[in-house]
Amino acid sequence: MSDLRFKVVEEAFDRKAVHVDIPNERPEAYYGKYVFNRQKMFEYLPKQTYDALVNAIDNKEPLSREIADSVAQGMKKWAIDNGARHYTHWFHPLTDGTAEKHDAFIDHDGKGGVVETFTGKLLVQQEPDASSFPNGGIRNTFEARGYSAWDISSPAFILDKTLCIPTIFISYTGESLDYKTPLLRSINAVDKAATAVARYFDPTVKHVNSFLGWEQEYFLVDEALYSARPDLVMTGRTLMGHESAKNQQLEDHYFGAIPSRVEAFMLDLEIECHKLGIPAKTRHNEVAPNQFELAPIYEETNLANDHNLLLMSIMSEVARRHNFRVLLHEKPFAGINGSGKHNNWSLGTDTGVALFSPGKTPMQNLQFITFVVNAMAAVYRHNGLLKASISSATNAHRLGANEAPPAIISIFTGTYLANILNKIEKSDSADILDFSTKEGMSLGLSQIPEILVDNTDRNRTSPFAFTGNRFEFRAVGSSANCASAMLALNAAVADELNSFKAKIDARLAKGEDLTNALFNEIRALIIETKPIHFDGNGYSDEWRQEAEARGLDCETCVPKIFDAYLLNSSIEMFKRTGVLSEVELEARNEVKWEMYTKKIQIEARVLGDLAMNHIVPVATRYQSFLVDNLVKIKSLFPEEKFAQFVEQDLGNIEKIAGHMSTIKREVENMVEERRLANQIESEREKAIAYHDNVVPRMETIRYHMDKLELMIDNEMWPLPKYRELLFIR
Ligand code: ADP
Ligand code: MG
Repeated sequence: MSDLRFKVVEEAFDRKAVHVDIPNERPEAYYGKYVFNRQKMFEYLPKQTYDALVNAIDNKEPLSREIADSVAQGMKKWAIDNGARHYTHWFHPLTDGTAEKHDAFIDHDGKGGVVETFTGKLLVQQEPDASSFPNGGIRNTFEARGYSAWDISSPAFILDKTLCIPTIFISYTGESLDYKTPLLRSINAVDKAATAVARYFDPTVKHVNSFLGWEQEYFLVDEALYSARPDLVMTGRTLMGHESAKNQQLEDHYFGAIPSRVEAFMLDLEIECHKLGIPAKTRHNEVAPNQFELAPIYEETNLANDHNLLLMSIMSEVARRHNFRVLLHEKPFAGINGSGKHNNWSLGTDTGVALFSPGKTPMQNLQFITFVVNAMAAVYRHNGLLKASISSATNAHRLGANEAPPAIISIFTGTYLANILNKIEKSDSADILDFSTKEGMSLGLSQIPEILVDNTDRNRTSPFAFTGNRFEFRAVGSSANCASAMLALNAAVADELNSFKAKIDARLAKGEDLTNALFNEIRALIIETKPIHFDGNGYSDEWRQEAEARGLDCETCVPKIFDAYLLNSSIEMFKRTGVLSEVELEARNEVKWEMYTKKIQIEARVLGDLAMNHIVPVATRYQSFLVDNLVKIKSLFPEEKFAQFVEQDLGNIEKIAGHMSTIKREVENMVEERRLANQIESEREKAIAYHDNVVPRMETIRYHMDKLELMIDNEMWPLPKYRELLFIR
């Protein structure tokens, strides 16, 4: 009966590494091969068009239709030279992932044949039938039009012989229906706000960029095993499965040697990344078995985010070439670590100054502290919102599970920064600002040159950490669109910087000198935002209590966490910065609640099916096998011996019966709870009902199925077990 399981396990364990075609050239030669980057633009566009396009990108200026037409010609030529046959507007709808609708370049030539054409109009704007994308009620069904519009700041690329043009996606009435639109608005908002503040220190600053370096964690599972697990196929995570005897206790996987099959996959993936201009740099094993990480060199946030989305889609494709499936779910396996996507975030000026890096002069340090403290204040004021920005049905399994950040946003600064903040708080003069940055440390080993001690200690329990020259937002989920977190953060920081600047200007107007004005406002902010600063153990129970006392948002129910988007403080902040309107916020929350419900609904259905059609029948068979056995034993032995021999067996039969009856009862209850929840009109209330009434039943059902897994004959068990899914040879 479990033939399938044994077959797939054998297939998976026998699998060898797939050969990778390594290009003969070095990465410099093929890096960006499929990207319409500046080098290609220069080659394929008339000089005048090239200059106009580069100027529009660098100075955020509009592009005329004629120039767009000229760009379209060059882009088409380049795409066709590289084998493309189709083009698509590539955008990020409010569901997960990316969307694309392909059109061939062909058009009638009037003589019964075709020509390949492409125009500025098609490049700049398209009107995909948008009725099936979630919109949260913004569009009526009779007005299903949505527009995608070219984002000139992210270069077009070729994927699978299709020219992909990164675009925003908006409704007929101009509201955003995607992640990119508000992300771009937030990037502009933080640019404007931070530039104005940076000019106190250097009047020549024209722009401030926001940078993102994501670290993508993921699991790999052999495709044969994956296919034999309906839960993985349908929901991306295991809904049942007892922990394996060995999992991550020995911590022997972290940074361990990478298995050869996986190494081949990683190499293949990196080559693909580099061809698409994704600067993949770091790879390693993660803590959990079968868990890995890929990190690129950081880039401007919009581009970095496009690259992350692109990575997530090519990853799945490359994995299949290696007979793997990638799991981007935040918690594919209970009992071992889940996957996150650390978002390393920083701001830097067009003059080359990293605003979260300490400098060499007192004024540079004052600038560093100005930006760090404003970022901290933004996180403090909007901690509930930032938590909402990373929350989802899937990430909920990971947060607060004592292996990932807790579901409370706080900031870890490390002792170096904490000392500086302390010093400023306690001082009444700006004279203390001459702190040195790093101390050289000699190890006393002649073979090892002097090393620099990192200014920051590591604290893995913090959701938001200062790491020397940037902040690391660690609570982001592995399957998330980084834009959700980044747009909230950029907007909040922009708003904080705007209000900071207003206060400084008021002081200057009263005749206070700049250094003192800055110093005084910084100190006030440090004192005000102290509750967000926490360097201790984020996993501890004491922290929960303390965070609550500090007034930080401690909500754990995801549908209620989303309420933070609709707090007055959030609505006003998004309005002031122009990042999202109230209508957009309301619509997006409708989508979030609906998505939450749908995910749980699907999981609950799959679990019900696994319970009733896979596990209960097997348990019944095993039980009747035990009963048969008892009857046979009974025929062989006298009564008292029989009683002695079968004591345990009787107990087991009873236990199995108990587990089965609970499973059957709870499946019925779960179905009933779903029926009740489905009748609720409000998306918010419905999502809460799923959270409160459906999820707990699922947990109970799983608990009893996992118990059965331990009792039932291994030969009979129908689904690959954790120990089989999790250890790639
Ligand atoms: P960790 O030790 O935290 O796992 P990694 O080397 O895996 O570090 O990843 C660090 C990430 O941070 C990389 O993507 C890197 O490009 C990015 N990063 C480094 N400096 C900055 C910065 N100033 N701004 C944004 N991202 C940065
Ligand atoms: Mg890392």
